[in-house]
Amino acid sequence: MKLFTVGPVEMYDETLNIGSKQIPYFRTEEFSNTMLKIKNNFLSLVDAPLDSSFAVLTASGTGAMECAVLNCLNKNDKVLVINGGSFGKRFSELCEALEIPHDDLVLPFGKTLTLSQLESYEGKQYTALLVNMHETSIGQLYDINMLGDFCERNGMYLIVDAVSSFLVDELSMNKMKIDLMLTASQKALALSPGLSFIVSSPRMTAKINENKVSSIYFDLKSYFKNMERGQTPFTPAVGIVYELEERLQSIVDKGIVAILEEKSELANYFRKKCADLPIEIPNYPLSNGLTPIVFPNNNAYELFLLAKEKYGLMLTPNGGDLANKVLRIGHMGNMSKSDYDKVIEFFKEVLQ
Ligand SMILES: *Cc1c(COP(=O)(O)O)cnc(C)c1O
Repeated sequence: MKLFTVGPVEMYDETLNIGSKQIPYFRTEEFSNTMLKIKNNFLSLVDAPLDSSFAVLTASGTGAMECAVLNCLNKNDKVLVINGGSFGKRFSELCEALEIPHDDLVLPFGKTLTLSQLESYEGKQYTALLVNMHETSIGQLYDINMLGDFCERNGMYLIVDAVSSFLVDELSMNKMKIDLMLTASQKALALSPGLSFIVSSPRMTAKINENKVSSIYFDLKSYFKNMERGQTPFTPAVGIVYELEERLQSIVDKGIVAILEEKSELANYFRKKCADLPIEIPNYPLSNGLTPIVFPNNNAYELFLLAKEKYGLMLTPNGGDLANKVLRIGHMGNMSKSDYDKVIEFFKEVLQ
């Protein structure tokens, strides 16, 4: 079975090898050194501002989203949420649950987020923006440079869920004026699910340090403090930390530019081949992480089952209103062009 999913994704042999080893004890100098090496590589890959803070959480990506909302914001904030799919909606639900005042900029399926849509939110005393850089439920890649400028103009903090963008789309906290970014282990990092990560700029960390939170496990202050010596407040998913150490080092050695180039080439290879088929690719900006495909005959879910059961291809189905309309083909993890030839073969066989 080949995974064309968006997490967990096809893992690399080196990662699978590490996953088979005994888990060592972690309150040691050796483990601390591993963590500090991870921190350095991680901060360099997101082009983090000098003296940024780093947290390794044992939680899925949603845990990191909740942790960010809980620690960065409070009842005195007024938050704008870009809600263009199920992950944007999740940010909105988190604000609701944690009683953070917020408004949603709701983007219907098919619409591109543009500057003109932000107009009515200018000068309205918003204090922070919550956005998923790549809205994974539909594959739209938002223009974070535009949002960074918007936040700067309006004196807002920019909090970015880059769970499905990190390592497939260009991401620079410095250039894009991102105050906090978060991601998770099972997407383009292609590791086991279970770890998530937060990088916070010094000005965001200052706000976090002033904010009292009603949580022990999700108190970011203690994660930042512990990370100064390469530790976490509680037992992390130690095995995945070792998977991460190897993966980050190999990415840094290869160079992030080459990694992104490879992913963009793979995504474009597949998209070009789709052009001859009776299917549609939406025309909003796309992440390199996946290709969304619209099926005009509303048989998307049926095709998902057929691909899984008869062809050994695990494509990514959609939920809710788009369940019969859209399938997503993931490009994250250990994938090659010949894998996409198989998907194209499948489409040719069942659609023509
Ligand atoms: C996958 C994903 C998450 C995290 O989902 P979990 O299932 O909690 O790991 C968060 N945001 C985005 C944009 C995602 O793609």
